[in-house]
Amino acid sequence: MKTIVTGGAGFIGSHLVDQLLECGHEVIVLDNFSTGRRANLDHVKDKIQLIECDLSINSDWVRYFKDVDWVFHLAALADIVPSIQKPEAYFNANVNGTFNVIQACKHANIKRVVYAASSSCYGIPDNFPTAETSAIKPQYPYALTKRIGEELVMHWAQVYQLPAVSCRFFNVYGTRSRTSGTYGAVFGVFLAQKLANKPMTIVGDGNQTRDFTYVTDVANALLSAAKSNKTEQIYNIGSGNTVSINKLVELLGGEKTHIPKRPGEPDCTYADISKIKSELNWTPKISIEDGVKLVLENIEYWRNAPVWTPDTIANETEDWFKYLGKN
Ligand code: NAD
Repeated sequence: MKTIVTGGAGFIGSHLVDQLLECGHEVIVLDNFSTGRRANLDHVKDKIQLIECDLSINSDWVRYFKDVDWVFHLAALADIVPSIQKPEAYFNANVNGTFNVIQACKHANIKRVVYAASSSCYGIPDNFPTAETSAIKPQYPYALTKRIGEELVMHWAQVYQLPAVSCRFFNVYGTRSRTSGTYGAVFGVFLAQKLANKPMTIVGDGNQTRDFTYVTDVANALLSAAKSNKTEQIYNIGSGNTVSINKLVELLGGEKTHIPKRPGEPDCTYADISKIKSELNWTPKISIEDGVKLVLENIEYWRNAPVWTPDTIANETEDWFKYLGKN
């Protein structure tokens, strides 16, 4: 089997590459290293083809799709704050990039396409656990561009019979998560603070809960989606649980402080994963307790990550409050 992973130098993509190699696949990674790192693939660099290219611009990278069986499209810009500040970059990477990739898939008659979608499409959900049929309410440009990408993929499946599924991830965590300077996912923020002996910055009262899904479980779900014969389907990928930020801080251990609650963020994320369980026979394996242990064993990875303080966070999230606070 020959497989392309776009965004394979990133956090989730690099774990997927590991699992594909374990299954004996020939793997081609397409990545422009905007947020991904060569170091994420150092341990497999002799076993894969690593192509540096920008998927938002159509060029000769399309030739790598010839004779490929599966394509996993994970390449995207994936942070909230920069998407509010630079929506054009997000539209280019996440919408134009997805358009170019599915066109390449269509021309090359790819057998399976799996799209990495985001649970941020649900915005502030009305129901928990949240099913795939819930209302779509993106709250910021990152969420919107990922949703447009998903609609493109589903439309190509419908019109051109491209065999494609979309997987909506909920709060993925684990080793190799982005440490690329922008204020982002809570795990990376807390781990860098813990290493620097600084207090962990809890947003609001910390009673909000998140469906933290361990990265190897997500990679495994993507494999299950590729192996199936389902098409034009959307699947939530979550841990089957939701955990408060206070509980996370307790598990990580360390000092804490509180910063203001932000507009556009839900009090709870919690995936209804009954569809993927019953249709693809996938279940998450890593509990939050085990996942935190794995992360703490590898905490040195976050040694050079930015250490955020309440002041630098206030500065960084100014546009978040400015624009989203008006809604
Ligand atoms: P990541 O930033 O680590 O990985 C994204 C990769 O895409 C990077 O390697 C980056 O260099 C590459 N990339 C970006 N723009 C590109 C372009 N124009 N051309 C080629 N490569 C490009 O992020 P991640 O957390 O691993 O996310 C992977 C996918 O999963 C993304 O599509 C993201 O939207 C989605 N997702 C992630 C989460 C999460 O919690 N991490 C949640 C929901 C959805």
